[in-house]
Formats: sequence, structure tokens, C-alpha cells
Amino acid sequence: MKNLNRLILILGDQLDLQGSALKDFNAKNDEIIMIESINEAQYVWSHKAKIALFLSAMRHFAQALEERQYPLTYIKESTLPIVEVLRQQLIHKKISRLVCVLPGEWRLKVAITELAQDLSLELEMREDEHFFCSRQDFVNWTAGKKELRLEYFYRLMRKTHGILVDADGNPEGGQWNFDQDNRKPYPKKGPGIIDPPPTFEPDPLTRKVLAYVNKKYKDHPGNLDQFYWPVTRDQALKALNYFVKYRLQNFGTFQDAMWTDTPFGWHSLLSSALNLKLLNPREVIATVLIAWKKYGLDLSTVEGFIRQILGWREFVRGMYYLDMPQMSQANYYNHQRPLPKWYWSGKTSMACMNDTIKQTLEYGYAHHIQRLMVTGNFALLAEILPSEVSNWYLAIYVDAIEWVELPNTVGMALFANGGRFTSKPYIASGAYIKRMSNYCGSCKYKPEVRFGETACPITTLYWNFLIKHRAQFDANPRTRLMTANLKKISDPDQKAIKKHAQELLSQLDGL
Ligand SMILES: Cc1cc2nc3c(=O)[nH]c(=O)nc-3n(C[C@H](O)[C@H](O)[C@H](O)COP(=O)(O)OP(=O)(O)OC[C@H]3O[C@@H](n4cnc5c(N)ncnc54)[C@H](O)[C@@H]3O)c2cc1C
Ligand code: SF4
Repeated sequence: MKNLNRLILILGDQLDLQGSALKDFNAKNDEIIMIESINEAQYVWSHKAKIALFLSAMRHFAQALEERQYPLTYIKESTLPIVEVLRQQLIHKKISRLVCVLPGEWRLKVAITELAQDLSLELEMREDEHFFCSRQDFVNWTAGKKELRLEYFYRLMRKTHGILVDADGNPEGGQWNFDQDNRKPYPKKGPGIIDPPPTFEPDPLTRKVLAYVNKKYKDHPGNLDQFYWPVTRDQALKALNYFVKYRLQNFGTFQDAMWTDTPFGWHSLLSSALNLKLLNPREVIATVLIAWKKYGLDLSTVEGFIRQILGWREFVRGMYYLDMPQMSQANYYNHQRPLPKWYWSGKTSMACMNDTIKQTLEYGYAHHIQRLMVTGNFALLAEILPSEVSNWYLAIYVDAIEWVELPNTVGMALFANGGRFTSKPYIASGAYIKRMSNYCGSCKYKPEVRFGETACPITTLYWNFLIKHRAQFDANPRTRLMTANLKKISDPDQKAIKKHAQELLSQLDGL
């Protein structure tokens, strides 16, 4: 056995040959280790497509390392947790220096740190360079601030990185935000022809993974019939170039729109490639800026897209490391109900929930507004225990890694951290879903009916939530208008709403 210097751990969401773990890699003395652990697919009941995506992308990455003749130990399908495999390997190889990149999940960060203490390792946990903002820069930005809001962080990021600003730091087009041009519903007749996202036919390696996942995880949610995700860097780059050429043009306008059997709209579908680190956000933004000029795209759509990457993606990541581990326990409203069973099957009579969950099971994908304002909104209004909701999101989406999933679920969708970084709970009645989609047209409920047999459950639960939390909503200038509308509802009607809501809440599984 050669005298090894360092073991370089590469996790399943750190698949970048240029990543900080491999920066000073020395093939003579260092060895890379990659570990597949069944535990990672089972600690939440993961969608088959999420498991397959990770395994296929990891195995392709291992191939790329081997092509470069990098020494690699690749552990397949271990029944042990990652850190236990790592312990065995470190002991077996007699290595006392471990290098890795900061994991995207707190539990792994803690487990690796504890392992290092246990074995008296020299541990180098390096910054993940797939973000514009380092953890320390984010902490510095929060210092002394009473309110942590995306908008101010985003403007700072634009100025710091010279993105869509002039030489004096003023925003391109004279404004920071083009929301009034973006976020429209589809025309009444429907979305029309949408350029579909590119699909990547599974190669033999992926087909083997798909067969394995179908067998090993046959009881897990979702299916693999539509598995066309990019699993290599080359494919991820193709997906990016295709998006900016054909789909970015309408991204902004229809960013929030929903329509039956239109799972992807004009969205980029780049989150999984970004989160596995097949793509770097810097190259994504650079490509978007080139496309803006090359294809004469509207500034509104370009800004709307860049806001998601440079704004939200960076912001939630900063918040995650700032607020963990408390974030995972947050439960501002003390909600305790279990997640309705149909979240795992889509078998519900609510058309909006049915469509969103069905496409989620089909593809492991739903776009932001479906996650926030359909499944997330319902979970908040139905008073579901935040950790149950969070485990669902973490399990069911191909792009789900805790650093991005948890703040979106706990902070944005559920207001479970009491507005730590949002100014109000994002709640909506059926009227919003009716305005932004065609779901209500095929639903047995009526979005405008507040109680009774034909009442939309989301509308009933929305008004019930407002009645229950009236004082909180009255006290906030941004939500006062919502409770002002409550005053227009008579006392007997409010009583009927409360009664109907109690009936719904007591039998959520039957909805
Ligand atoms: C409850 C909930 C859970 C979520 N869980 C995840 C998750 O596990 N993983 C994940 O990547 N995103 C998550 N999001 C954010 C967002 O919904 C997805 O990033 C987006 O839908 C991915 O699809 P897309 O690539 O087509 O995105 P697009 O709509 O095309 O947006 C472009 C990119 O911007 C980034 N982005 C957009 N919105 C956000 C956001 N709110 N936070 C962070 N990045 C954002 C993503 O990288 C995305 O690929 C969640 C949102 C909610 C409300
Ligand atoms: S009526 Fe209510 S439950 Fe039915 S689709 Fe519309 S919002 Fe959803």
C-alpha cells in the first residue's frame, strides 16, 4: 500500500472537477473517496428519480475521475451511513488527513466533524465555491440588521459582483425589480406552444442505475418513466444553453403561471444540475447575460431569472447556515397535524393539489409557485407539523438538498420561523389559484365558496386561518388588507367558515 497523504471525500452533491476539494489534489499522495449509502435514500422516503439522479451523476463523475487516472475508492450501495464507511476506510488506509467541502446538509457537517474528533484527524472542511457569497460574508451582512430581507441582500450582490449595474452601481434599466412585467397568468386559452426542455436519454450507465433503483427502492414514491435529467457536466451545459436560447424569453412573464399538464412551463429545470454542482452559478449568470444581448431578450425576464440565482439561491443558503440547527425545529404556530397521506399519492379531489403532486411523482419536479402556493400554502393552512412538510419536500424533489429545501419550506412556505426573513406569511385562498391557473375549471369545488359542500377547502382554510390569527395580520401593514376583507364577512358566515374548517381539519386524509 502506498503511503497516502490525504483522503479527499467527494459527496454526491459536490460533482465538480474544479471544486475546492480537488484544488490542490496530488495524484501521487492523495486518494479520492466517494460513497453511495442506502441510508441517504432512506432517511427521508426519497423519490426514485432523486435516488437515481444522485447515483447516476456520482457514477458518471467517478468515470470522469478514472479517465484522468485519479486514484479513487468508490463504495457502491453500502448499507452503512456515509460517515461509518468513511471511518472504516480511514482506519483501513491509515490516513489521518481528511479533506472535504462543506456538506449541504447540517447532519453531515456535524457527523464528519465528530468523526474527525473521534479519530483525531486533521480535517480540512473547505468553503463551497459554488456560491457567490461565502458564509462569513453573509454573516457580516446580517450584523446589526433588524430585518433580513432578500431585496437588500440581492441589491448588494448585484453591486458587489457588477451584475446588471452601471459603473456607479445603479441598476440596469433604472429599477431593481421588474415584477410588474413578470408573473402573469397564461392567456385564458392556455399557454400555447411552449418549447419543451431538452431531454437526456439514459445511457447504459444510467439505465443500469434506473433498473437498480426500480428494484431496490420499488416501494419508494414516484416513478422513473420520465427520467431525462442531466447527469453529466456536458449535459448540464447543454441544458443551460438550450434554456437561454429557447425558453428564457418567456421565463419572467409566466414565472408564476400554472396550467394542467404543463409541468415545466418556461422554467429552466437547472436546479438539480446547479445543486449537484454540475453547473456553477457564475457560468449560469454569465451565459444568461450573453444571451440577453445575443437574442435581444427583455431585461425583465433576464433580471427575473438572475434574481432567483443571485438573490434567492444565495440568500436561503446564507440563512440555512446562519440559523441551523434551530431552523429544523422551527414551529412558530405550533402546528402538529400529520401530513395527509395523499401528499405521497396525489389522490385528492382538489384539482390543484392533484395536478401538482401527480407531476411531482412523475418527474420529481414542480415549479416554485406550485411548491410555494399550492402544496406549501395548503400545508400551512391545514396546520401541518413543519418537520413533516419539510421531510416531504426533501424526499420528493430531484433538486432537494437541505440547505435550499429547509429555508424555503420553513421560512417561505410555512412561516414556521416567525418571519425571520419574510415580511408576512404567504397564504392565499382559492381565488389566487384560480387567477394563476386553470385548475379550478376541472375541480369539484368552487374557489369563491367559503363554506358548505361545494366550498374550496383552500378558501375555507384560508379564511379560518385569518380569523384565527387576526391579531397578527392586523398588526402588520403588509397583511392588514387581508383582515380588512374579513370585516366584510358577517359573523354568522365566519362561524360557518370556522365550523366547516374544523370538519376539514379533522379529516384531512379524506380530502
Ligand atoms: C417549499 C419549497 C421547497 C423548495 N425546495 C427546493 C429544493 O429542495 N431545492 C431547490 O433547488 N429549490 C427549492 N425550492 C426553490 C424553487 O422552487 C426551485 O429552485 C425551483 O422550482 C427549481 O426549478 P427550476 O430549476 O426550473 O427553477 P427556475 O424557476 O427556472 O429558477 C432558476 C433557478 O433559480 C434558483 N431558485 C429559484 N427560486 C429559488 C428559491 N426560492 N430558493 C433557492 N433557489 C431558487 C434555482 O437554482 C433555480 O434552478 C423550493 C421552494 C419552495 C417554496
Ligand atoms: S377550487 Fe380550490 S381546491 Fe379546487 S382547484 Fe381551485 S383552488 Fe384548488
